[in-house]
Amino acid sequence: AIEVTGLHKSFGDLEVLKGIDITVRRGEVVCVIGPSGSGKSTLLRCVNLLEEPTSGVVRVAGVEVTDPDVDIDGVRRRIGMVFQAFNLFPHLTALGNLTIAQRRVLGRGKAEAEEVARRNLRRVGLTEKEHVYPAQLSGGQQQRVAIARALSMGPELMLFDEPTSALDPELVGDVLAVMRRLADEVTMLVVTHEMSFAREVADRVIFMDAGAVVEEGPPEQVVGEPRHARTRSFLARVL
Ligand code: ATP
Ligand code: MG
Repeated sequence: AIEVTGLHKSFGDLEVLKGIDITVRRGEVVCVIGPSGSGKSTLLRCVNLLEEPTSGVVRVAGVEVTDPDVDIDGVRRRIGMVFQAFNLFPHLTALGNLTIAQRRVLGRGKAEAEEVARRNLRRVGLTEKEHVYPAQLSGGQQQRVAIARALSMGPELMLFDEPTSALDPELVGDVLAVMRRLADEVTMLVVTHEMSFAREVADRVIFMDAGAVVEEGPPEQVVGEPRHARTRSFLARVL
């Protein structure tokens, strides 16, 4: 579970997050939607400490990650992150990409790391690609390898930041299908512009604008019958 309380983040004079309160319970899938520049990526980056919050409290699985004495590497290990760009190592096969952090960061032996890697390649439907290099994979397949790599670390929580927005339209569906299957097993906080995904998969949807949560609730409410004018005008532009 994630609990974010009173989260503020400024870059110099620019206040990007203006007091965010959100909770994602264990097993939930929460989608964050909102216009460009509203602070969605910054929120995710504050949860896994890629950015240092200016103030506020973030708890992940009971651990206060904003505690100045926290073991940052320990926190990051418990949080899987998937970005728009896949960031695979080009010189390693799919299997190599999935085993390297398990071995270096978690200290797993080769056999165990490969077993975990194969299990996760199966989860994303890429069993037959274990010996293939990233350049030989489609964008959608590369993103599925990146998801499997994050899963191989056994995270408490997965953060996704627009995982399909760099993909050609015909490749988006495969990645969303994988995420849909994971939704039953993994706690996920997903920034997405895919409204059909948010509608069908999210337990809750959060609409952010200008660094604040404007509206949150079940998808049929936030996407289906938004209460706020700002949510309505955003949806009118993306739907
Ligand atoms: P998008 O939908 O385009 O990805 P977003 O909602 O993810 O947008 P953020 O990337 O969180 O928005 O950015 C929010 C604001 O913070 C923007 O005005 C951006 O320019 C600013 N910002 C983000 N990172 C930095 C940084 N490292 N330094 C200064 N300003 C930043
Ligand atoms: Mg962003």
